[in-house]
Amino acid sequence: MLFKRLLPLSLMAVLATSACTFQLGDPVAVQPTPQTSVKTDAPQTGDGPATEEPGVPTANQSFSDSEVTQEINDAVEVVNTYWQTHWSEFFTGTYSAPQVRGSYSGTDPNRFTCSGEPAAEMNAYYCIQEDYVAWDFNLMREGYAQGDAWIYLVVAHEWGHAIQNRLDDSLVDVAGELQADCLAGAVLYGSTTDGILQWEPGDTAEISAGLTTLGDESPWADPSSHGDSIERVSAFGKGRIGGVAGCLASS
Ligand SMILES: [Zn+2]
Repeated sequence: MLFKRLLPLSLMAVLATSACTFQLGDPVAVQPTPQTSVKTDAPQTGDGPATEEPGVPTANQSFSDSEVTQEINDAVEVVNTYWQTHWSEFFTGTYSAPQVRGSYSGTDPNRFTCSGEPAAEMNAYYCIQEDYVAWDFNLMREGYAQGDAWIYLVVAHEWGHAIQNRLDDSLVDVAGELQADCLAGAVLYGSTTDGILQWEPGDTAEISAGLTTLGDESPWADPSSHGDSIERVSAFGKGRIGGVAGCLASS
């Protein structure tokens, strides 16, 4: 993913000479990275699925936690800006962003709670009762090792749940997880159309791998809550092609 304001690591050298044309919306508070060590025995993510176009995930071999945090902040800006810009094209009322509590450590005894329940380790979630999104930093770090598109996927998906919570019930698909994937596809490709985000070689493969591996609210790859990997990639593609309108239950 190439965020037009802040370029990814691979293009850091370009940053110095790159003109900034991205207009920021209202700032969104982002939690600082927890001061915790990162697991080194995290589970590996399989071989990855066949990709829809040439390219393999552009794995990041060596990176710092602050780089991951920066990528998360970029993804939050991109996703929030999309919804801020386009909400009124699809819905009545005024857009309001969910709170971004951001990164936690799943092993921190003082980590976030949602309705009194401590945040799960290696998870990302939208807390409907308190209207905030959050993610285990270790999960993001592990995803970033596979490529930066993972982080965009997680943020856009969780934000999708916040959007669902703002919609009339008639627009919310019973397959809520697949709808969140669809909204993620709509937002990430819509941001590309807006000129804010540029896809790089490997990004689609990273998204496919992410949809195969990632999940939330329950064990990450549980097909009963998220659909299987084919359904998830298909849902993301639906949003890519049909945009937000194509993701709504009544469409
Ligand atoms: Zn979800």
